[in-house]
Amino acid sequence: MEIKDVLKNKGLKITKKRIGILKVLDMVEYPVDVLEIKDKLNDNDIEINLSTVYRALEDMAEVGIVNRVNFSSDTRVFYELNRNGHHHYLHCLKCKALVIIDGCPLDDYQEDLAKKTKYDLTGHNLDIYGYCPKCQDKK
Ligand SMILES: [Zn+2]
Ligand SMILES: [Zn+2]
Repeated sequence: MEIKDVLKNKGLKITKKRIGILKVLDMVEYPVDVLEIKDKLNDNDIEINLSTVYRALEDMAEVGIVNRVNFSSDTRVFYELNRNGHHHYLHCLKCKALVIIDGCPLDDYQEDLAKKTKYDLTGHNLDIYGYCPKCQDKK
């Protein structure tokens, strides 16, 4: 699907900045933070300031075009394209490598919990971290 159509389908205005941000997210395979997105846009001659990048990302997260990703070992908020819905990451504390975990081990759990507690649960974070095989060798 064209990036323009993604925005249109979700009822967001098509702007050069939003398209630029989505192109950056489409290029990378790992979640990136606001600063890195801004740098990449500047590399492509798109002048944009941090708060604009942040606002555009939040707008697009609200409608599900991008996902917010949080890691407990890092205070920054990362963003990624919502390619195949919800998933989790393994991350290496040393080289910061990220590996996507297929599927969510907490889906059933969250559903059960919602039934039991009558909460309307809207999401969860699961952070799995340690040292990747390469970094273990170096230890
Ligand atoms: Zn590593
Ligand atoms: Zn999950």
